[in-house]
Amino acid sequence: MASSTIISNTANLQKYLQLPQNGKIIAEYVWIDGSNGLRSKCKTMSKKVEKLEDLSEWNFDGSSTGQAPGDNSDVYLRPVAYYPDPFRLGDNIIVMCETYMSDGSPNAYNFRHDAAIILKQHSAAEFWFGLEQEYTLLDEFGWPYGWPKNGFPAPQGPYYCGVGTGKVFCRDIVEAHYKACLYAGIEISGTNAEVMPAQWEFQVGPCPDISLGDQLWIARFLLHRVAEEFGAKVTFAPKPIPGDWNGAGLHSNVSTKDTRADGGMKAIEAAMEKLSSRQKEHMAVYGSDNQLRMTGKHETASYDKFTWGVANRGSSVRIPRQVAADNKGYFEDRRPASNADPYQITGIIAETMYGKVEG
Ligand code: ADP
Ligand code: MN
Ligand code: MN
Ligand code: MN
Ligand code: MN
Repeated sequence: MASSTIISNTANLQKYLQLPQNGKIIAEYVWIDGSNGLRSKCKTMSKKVEKLEDLSEWNFDGSSTGQAPGDNSDVYLRPVAYYPDPFRLGDNIIVMCETYMSDGSPNAYNFRHDAAIILKQHSAAEFWFGLEQEYTLLDEFGWPYGWPKNGFPAPQGPYYCGVGTGKVFCRDIVEAHYKACLYAGIEISGTNAEVMPAQWEFQVGPCPDISLGDQLWIARFLLHRVAEEFGAKVTFAPKPIPGDWNGAGLHSNVSTKDTRADGGMKAIEAAMEKLSSRQKEHMAVYGSDNQLRMTGKHETASYDKFTWGVANRGSSVRIPRQVAADNKGYFEDRRPASNADPYQITGIIAETMYGKVEG
């Protein structure tokens, strides 16, 4: 399905991917840039990486990524997690990094730093997070993949979890990404076609604490990389097409030791009380352009007002029917936009439920 104007040489590439590496391994360092995007660069290592400490700090030119001024442009990369590389195979790895300035302070776009501190402070709460990442695939002209040129497909209805030609687009990308995530050890829990054609979802989790953010960002990286090979663009815009077309979210499912224990609905209700008093602050970090998506239509709640309810997909937070029946489990915060930062989401939820310990 790759388009004719994009030169994709992945078949030729295969023979080079088979070449032995003379004992060297490739570590691809990945970081988040100044516009909510991802960047990466590669480093040759002299031997197999066995632990995080085997990976050295590195740096990049932050003036080229919107992350530092030209006269003090070095930004440092600190490895925080690494995963088997599904593109190069063997002992090659993909390395998630945090970004730091030369004075040791976190870069302005390093949202992992604070989130990791808060989640560590509350490690006794045993947070688990499971995020549902929705996204849209675009063609080379920036129009949803498979949509008629200069036109629209038939109205929404047949596309959600759709099967068959004309109902789903780019299943090959979704399939390749799913396998790439599994190979890398990402705890991807499923995928489905979404309500708007060319829109898809994958879920990551449940994962404890900061590891959800690490894994979701790597899953996003893998998606961009896979889509490159098929000549498609990935957009995480929350409302890629205005009008009667569903937006894209990042539903965030949350539980703690207390919500999962017998009678855990009590802890969920206490959490709702706390979340309801912080609506503005939460929306501030739940992604940009989210007010375009949160119209109260298309299975969203209002942007300004916090609501929660059992099995209600029009409320800010939904308690799944089964959770209410079991009187324990998790809640689904439906507010985050697809372009939100999972570090910011998980950090502010933990802080809202358990507070911030100063010092
Ligand atoms: P939806 O019905 O909203 O589309 P999905 O099946 O897409 O739900 O996603 C449900 C998500 O809930 C999954 O990502 C899963 O990891 C997460 N989840 C399940 N149980 C828990 C739990 N106890 N704590 C946190 N997240 C959970
Ligand atoms: Mn250079
Ligand atoms: Mn879902
Ligand atoms: Mn969905
Ligand atoms: Mn959901």
